[in-house]
Amino acid sequence: MLATLAVTLTLSGCGGAIPDAPHRARPQPTIAYQPIRPDEGQCLSDLGAKAAGFTPLPDQYYGAGCATFNAVRLASLSGDSQSFNISNLGPVTCPLANTFAGWARFGVDRAARAILGSPLARIETMGSYSCRNVAGTDKRSAHATGNAIDVAAFVLADGRRITVLNGWNSDDPAEREFLHTVHQSACRRFGTTLGPDFNAAHRNHLHVDLMNNGVCH
Ligand SMILES: [Zn+2]
Repeated sequence: MLATLAVTLTLSGCGGAIPDAPHRARPQPTIAYQPIRPDEGQCLSDLGAKAAGFTPLPDQYYGAGCATFNAVRLASLSGDSQSFNISNLGPVTCPLANTFAGWARFGVDRAARAILGSPLARIETMGSYSCRNVAGTDKRSAHATGNAIDVAAFVLADGRRITVLNGWNSDDPAEREFLHTVHQSACRRFGTTLGPDFNAAHRNHLHVDLMNNGVCH
């Protein structure tokens, strides 16, 4: 605590623009340039307790309402008895990563076991952070702050790959039931869940984010 305070005070007069004089000791980069605020520390600790594989990322501001603060890179999550990978995902905010981890384990992995008889091996996404507006509006999307994830497919341990595009109205009733079940459990956990029934733009993915409350289509 005292060490952190000392480094913070030292830096407060630095401003960041003046190059370090050669004789000055460089502060520890992890403390100096990426302070962990208490609520963020708690969030990271919660994510660690879920046995997630992740890397905390430095805050980034891209301008024009686009930024990733308090974000992590999520590589893997844990089910009841196995871990599974998350593919093609960019930076996501830590609170979203926590909610996603809970959904992936209790909403997706358990549904895969119960309905399709195989545990989950991978969740394929279409990404998270993207500096863009909500389609057809001048409002920034939750993606513009790393607060949304687009989920495209689920790969099971037995090799089956269930895509939102082909499975939502599949001839196979078990695939349909699985996708509609994970959609419903997403609605219970995320603020906003949008799937193929919302509009044609979502025919191939489930959009989940923490904005609003109880928006479920
Ligand atoms: Zn989306």
